[in-house]
Amino acid sequence: MVLVQHVIHYSLHLVLPLGVAVLFFRKKWKQTYIILLLTMLVDIDHLFTNPVFDPCRCSIGFHFLHSYAAIGLYVLMLPFSRLRIIAIGLLMHMATDYIDCFFIEFNCK
Ligand SMILES: [Zn+2]
Repeated sequence: MVLVQHVIHYSLHLVLPLGVAVLFFRKKWKQTYIILLLTMLVDIDHLFTNPVFDPCRCSIGFHFLHSYAAIGLYVLMLPFSRLRIIAIGLLMHMATDYIDCFFIEFNCK
């Protein structure tokens, strides 16, 4: 089940953004894809916890950039065209991490 989790996790982090960039931002898909990948830097908040990585910890609601308040802020960024791609990347990241939480329930109990 851990392999399935990793395939889904990295597909959603790497392949889904490519699909979104190509399908919805066709003229600037490369630039969009790079911005979407850069939103993975949101995981920098893991560095403020000990241990930095815990395979049995759900990031959503735990790390400050993965908090529900932060997710609300990412939603509020959506109407602003200059922030929209970043917001989409951050929300896709949160959705991916949230899916991971279901696997954690299954794998770590
Ligand atoms: Zn994350």
